Amino acid sequence: MPDDVLLRGAARILQGGPDWEQSSGDLLVRAGRIAAVGGDLSASADGARVLDVRGLTLIPGLVQTHVHLCQTLFRGLAEDLPLLPWLRSRVWPLEASHDPDSLRASARLSVHELLAGGTTTILDMGTTHHHEHVFEVLRESGIRAASGKAMMDEGEGVPVGLLETTLDSLRHSFDLAERWDGAADGRLRYAFAPRFVLSCSDVLFDEVVKLAKGKYLLHTHASENEDETRIVAEIKGRRNIEYFEDIGFLGPGTLLAHCVWLSDSEVGALATSGARALHCPHTNLKLGSGIAEFRRLRDAGVHVSIGCDGAPANNRLDGFAEMRTAALLAQTRSGPGSVSAAEILTTMTRSGAEALGWGDSVGQLEPGWDADIVAVDLDTPHASPVHDPVTALVYSAQASDVRHVLVAGEVLVRDGVVRSLDRDDVVTDANAQIRSVLDRAGQHGYDAQSTSTNAGDRA
Ligand SMILES: [Zn+2]
Repeated sequence: MPDDVLLRGAARILQGGPDWEQSSGDLLVRAGRIAAVGGDLSASADGARVLDVRGLTLIPGLVQTHVHLCQTLFRGLAEDLPLLPWLRSRVWPLEASHDPDSLRASARLSVHELLAGGTTTILDMGTTHHHEHVFEVLRESGIRAASGKAMMDEGEGVPVGLLETTLDSLRHSFDLAERWDGAADGRLRYAFAPRFVLSCSDVLFDEVVKLAKGKYLLHTHASENEDETRIVAEIKGRRNIEYFEDIGFLGPGTLLAHCVWLSDSEVGALATSGARALHCPHTNLKLGSGIAEFRRLRDAGVHVSIGCDGAPANNRLDGFAEMRTAALLAQTRSGPGSVSAAEILTTMTRSGAEALGWGDSVGQLEPGWDADIVAVDLDTPHASPVHDPVTALVYSAQASDVRHVLVAGEVLVRDGVVRSLDRDDVVTDANAQIRSVLDRAGQHGYDAQSTSTNAGDRA
């Protein structure tokens, strides 16, 4: 159990969406949960360590509902390609070249960036092998996470090193789920992750629905890119979300990254089923995939949250930058004023927690809620003067403005320094491990020369 902490003297405490009620002063954390908020709490803070937050703004930790920790080591190695060549010539061969040491290095690099930038909770999709090493890093680092190994039992261009039999894919996923779901006092959860329709057999999807739905989160990609969407329709004889609806894959515990290319009836199916759309604006822009329609989805009743996706498609894991771009894209797609900063900040905090099943304990700074807290400095040249702190957080703030981060009451970042991971070790190890990965990558089909015109864009 972490020590009790008194966060002393905040300039502002933004308690949570959708209203973002504002107070100031102290916030008391006892036994990992928020005990009291606002005013002078020193009289009731016996035994608590004091964390000076004078001048800072306290907000609930950011929640990113779609990331790939295994890919962060590949930052800068998959530039200027559309989705399918990006996967086939770069990202899949690189994933196939991971060993336990490189995978740990990638996970540590990711979690350092996420925590230092104020992201306290993630939904992660791994690669097919060695995923227990990612969970070990998640446990050691203190971040809150749902995660699962990618499931891939077929698919054009999938390297042999990533392919698994349907039975092995299910068996390994269940082994990990039994070991890690609910681990670290409930801070870790398991999410079954059939990667997407083009890398998973009908049998695999059917077995996941039959054996895992309702017990675990289900996490996949859907309708990200126009070519992918067209090929899925050719293979399955119906559109991506229609296929998922027909096989019973959709439900409130089902999380679908991207959702860019959707018909009206597919949007309706998401809303009716309660399935969650995971909006990844930078990835969609960088891979030229399109722009997910935030306002259209929300107005139709679809639950939407946000994530940075994989570093090779972003190239950062900066939750503040992702909020800003999500807001800008919604204003462009649906007109100025179609989305407020308050709605975006709520989407990046409370909505994300809801999507992952933590909606009644994470994402608000109120007594009884888990102490996942970020202290941000808004007194910066790029954010001053601050008229509305919510607007400043969404449109002006950046990851490097984060000063302190608590998850479940544990102070994981203090004065901008991540305490659970050594910054220099993380960077040195990443630079060493990517060289080992690249030494192995040729044998798995990695093609550093591939371009969008010669890599082939068809399944
Ligand atoms: Zn993804």
